[in-house]
Amino acid sequence: MKLTIIGTGYVGLVTGACFAEVGHQVVCVDNDAAKVKVLQAGGIPIYEPGLEELVKKNVAAGRLSFTSSTAEGVAKSDVIFIAVPTPPQPDGSVDMSFIEKVAREIASAMTAYKIVVDKSTVPVKTGDQVAETIKRYNKAKVEFDVVSNPEFLREGFAVEDLMKPDRVVIGVRSQRPVAAMKEIYEPFNAPIIVTDINSAELIKHASNSFLALKISYINAVSVLCEAAGANVQEVAAGMGMDARIGRRFLNASLGFGGSCFPKDLSAFVKIAEQVGYDFRLLKEVQSINVEQMNRFVKKITEILWVLKDKNIGVLGLAFKQNTDDVRQSPAIELCQRLQKEGARLRVHDPKAMEKARTVLSGVTYVDDMNAVADGCDALVIATEWDEFKQLDLERARRALSHPIMFDGRNLFDAAEMEKAGWIYKSIGR
Ligand code: NAD
Repeated sequence: MKLTIIGTGYVGLVTGACFAEVGHQVVCVDNDAAKVKVLQAGGIPIYEPGLEELVKKNVAAGRLSFTSSTAEGVAKSDVIFIAVPTPPQPDGSVDMSFIEKVAREIASAMTAYKIVVDKSTVPVKTGDQVAETIKRYNKAKVEFDVVSNPEFLREGFAVEDLMKPDRVVIGVRSQRPVAAMKEIYEPFNAPIIVTDINSAELIKHASNSFLALKISYINAVSVLCEAAGANVQEVAAGMGMDARIGRRFLNASLGFGGSCFPKDLSAFVKIAEQVGYDFRLLKEVQSINVEQMNRFVKKITEILWVLKDKNIGVLGLAFKQNTDDVRQSPAIELCQRLQKEGARLRVHDPKAMEKARTVLSGVTYVDDMNAVADGCDALVIATEWDEFKQLDLERARRALSHPIMFDGRNLFDAAEMEKAGWIYKSIGR
């Protein structure tokens, strides 16, 4: 099928590449001309495992192309996906200006029937607004359908998630676009659930908020574990073996971040407020997350006492492993908190250093993870990269003024670390 994706970021680019991979003819549109230029020249503006090969292969096969013209994208396809940002506003509600602008642009360019599919994460009832906007701004008064098709990919595993989705949600107002939507997703062999648009939009916010809730739950349990001398990893393992609970998203840490969970939680709380419901449960999920970071910073100051003029090595800047994304990264927040206390930082991340430089200054970026500890008073693990498990601990011990590690991701075995002479502080153990 001929498909256009408007917004070529983490969601749009990976979606475009995966659609092309299963045989669709895909045009990816972005209004960032520099980004389009990079893509047209064969570059990939983001890091996502497996993405580069997939994009190159499908561009070479003539199934994937890039443009900065929405009009061109709309003209070339029958189905137009919207994958532009929906960032938070200061009050927690969603900034809908990107979606509204794209809806107007699509409307102006439409000369024949199109299916307009929203893939961005949006508040419930956005479908109605998009339909109304297109109706108002389409001078030709052509027919169209609006569909909600929320995206559930995880950054760091985006290609895998898109190629093998747990489910595909298709929200519609009429049956007309259903066959085309099913045809697009047929090659992925995933269960497809067809709902009304409002339910589809709610599924996304309800799912992300539930996952964030799971993380805050285990983080709250980690506080009890520390107080009682229990081990949160053993508790999570025991809980997770119950099929009703599941082990995933039960990793205690210094808290969740990223461009989705914090913003989707705030949006969901706000949406609830607008319909007259006080979603106190989710407000608590948010506060537990804030407290978890505070508690971690406190742990560091309890051991290092005064942070002013201390040198601290920080491993990890991305908001989680396998990505270069630093948006709302807890690792970056932690660095900034330590800097505020006067600490000097040496930092490393396998993929996110370039993006981190745009938001974190006044630190020393170190290319070799093993050299981060050099001349430092302590090491901090802030992101759960698998690579960090291979850290040369002997070398780090010698390089530090005293072997002290704060592990915000529970990467190492606490008993072994202590046996090896480390002052080792992790989460919930
Ligand atoms: P992103 O910032 O990586 O990409 C968005 C792209 O849209 C950018 O390249 C931007 O230049 C482009 N853009 C903005 N306005 C445009 C316009 N008028 N015309 C053309 N292009 C335009 O964002 P993302 O992470 O891909 O997220 C997109 C949406 O998907 C958001 O609603 C997000 O909540 C949702 N989502 C994200 C993830 C994730 O893990 N990143 C997962 C599921 C859903």
